[in-house]
Amino acid sequence: MTVTDPHTEPLEASAGPVVEVSDVWKLHQLGDEVVKALVAVELQVQPGEFVCLMGPSGSGKSTLLNIIGGLDRPTKGSVRLNGQDTGRLTESQFAALRHDTIGFIFQSYNLIPFLSAVENVELPLMFEPYDRAALRTRALELLDHVGLSHRVDHQPTKMSGGEQQRTAIARSLVSNPTLILADEPTANLDHRTGTAVVTQLRDLCSRLGVTVVASTHDPTVAEVASRVVRMKDGRIVED
Ligand code: ADP
Ligand code: MG
Repeated sequence: MTVTDPHTEPLEASAGPVVEVSDVWKLHQLGDEVVKALVAVELQVQPGEFVCLMGPSGSGKSTLLNIIGGLDRPTKGSVRLNGQDTGRLTESQFAALRHDTIGFIFQSYNLIPFLSAVENVELPLMFEPYDRAALRTRALELLDHVGLSHRVDHQPTKMSGGEQQRTAIARSLVSNPTLILADEPTANLDHRTGTAVVTQLRDLCSRLGVTVVASTHDPTVAEVASRVVRMKDGRIVED
């Protein structure tokens, strides 16, 4: 890729798993009640896998993705990313690790409305000391990969939901992550668009060697995954 600053290179692919979740619990105290969002979760994700977390609403999918990505911390248990024990990191160390190695995709795209598609893709690296021309080239290349060469100057409001999510996919890949975390990436898309978008995500990540963990309750999303992990009541019930 065009941005060659070593800072953007993925962490040296350790021989082991990209993600190692060991005995992770997440409890929420709600008045007198304890909500068990995650219960003794064990999950290992190997390099290059496309893992789909399936389960009904409230089964713990978002909580697990957030804990893997460091947006939330477990009540108990450990998460290793590329072999590194994230429990030992301070918030700012985890933020740096997240910035360098993880791309996020959300159900609601989370694009900045007043920026164009290409500026949205550049955003994660915009405040870094990168060569502007190289960053622009890279962002345009990624938009081309997701079939949006004809939309680079469009603002999100002028794009369809599928185009917005494709822009978000390009953005998630701009910092050359080793891992993409996608929380219900097709929830706001019609069935056909959702299938096309997630197939594109899979093919692009497979080409770039990026590992993906995505949540969904759409069975067609699960069909494109290399592995389906089923969750219920905060537990992994099938893998
Ligand atoms: P999913 O993404 O599968 O719909 P979540 O991970 O969002 O599930 O939620 C799992 C469980 O944890 C649900 O019962 C939810 O209500 C509960 N939960 C999540 N976040 C909180 C919170 N901040 N406070 C209390 N309960 C929470
Ligand atoms: Mg959720």
